[in-house]
Amino acid sequence: MGGEAMQALLGNEGLKAGLASAFSSGKLSHCYLITGPVGSGRHTLAAILAAAMECTAGSRRPCGVCLACRKVLDQVHPDVITVDEPGKKTVSVETVRRARADVYIRPNEGLRKIYVFPRAMDMNAAAQNALLKVIEEPPDYAAFLLLAESAEQLLPTIRSRAVLLRLSPLSETVGLEALKRRFPDRPVEALRDAWTRSGGFLGQAEAILTEHAALAPETLRFADCFARRDRLGLTELLVPMERMKREQLQPLLLQWAEILHQAMLVRAGLTGAWETARQIGHSRTTADALHAQQSLRRGAELLGGNVSPGAVCGALQVWLDETN
Ligand SMILES: [Zn+2]
Repeated sequence: MGGEAMQALLGNEGLKAGLASAFSSGKLSHCYLITGPVGSGRHTLAAILAAAMECTAGSRRPCGVCLACRKVLDQVHPDVITVDEPGKKTVSVETVRRARADVYIRPNEGLRKIYVFPRAMDMNAAAQNALLKVIEEPPDYAAFLLLAESAEQLLPTIRSRAVLLRLSPLSETVGLEALKRRFPDRPVEALRDAWTRSGGFLGQAEAILTEHAALAPETLRFADCFARRDRLGLTELLVPMERMKREQLQPLLLQWAEILHQAMLVRAGLTGAWETARQIGHSRTTADALHAQQSLRRGAELLGGNVSPGAVCGALQVWLDETN
């Protein structure tokens, strides 16, 4: 097994053993395609690979302690370059061309110059073809780490030039142990529930737990009922809320509206939304989410205009029902 830095990636023992032998023999590829769903450890693995490429220790690379390793792991190494356009739906051909031009400038201080594509699947064919040109004949110091959900999202010509590293789900034992270390105060049932929903990918379970701590219990129930078109569930949620004070009710309605806003972004193809919003985005139409969001905003406005919480909750049952 390689250096300690490798342990940051849990599970995936076969993949790590293969990489450790490549690291120790110095037989690193110049192009890796790292695949797995959100939260599967793609970024962790990319950091390990980049550190192994820059590490100045003689053996057990990446050592995790040399200056080069530390800079890579702290994301401040000048020769590890992220190629992305945050907030945009796709990574454009212009962005790829800029990166391609930069490849021919030698590394600042590192052994290699490493280009990380965190959303390789969001490059269209033109962008991928622009990348292909430099992957085919790169300068000897250049390396490319492409992250995607699955290999099929990339052109066969790109795939054939990359070493595929496919991340696997973790076992429940490994996953729950990691969650207990990360969330020592949370009940085991909550950890187990998040683990079950995560499909075995630690990052997803962590995101669910973090998000559940940030959202009101009523919001989680609303999102769940709305995603499943559970009319009775929504009524059962709203009826007791009629007795809330307006300053309690209003922020809840706005939080629900925000979740629906995120669900619409999910439907528009943007990534990075909360899991709760993703569930809605996958099961409801944009029109449904928009209607419900407008209803909730109207409810919050009426509360500000002296309409009683009871009347607003009653109206919401009718308005939200219109989409169910
Ligand atoms: Zn090192």
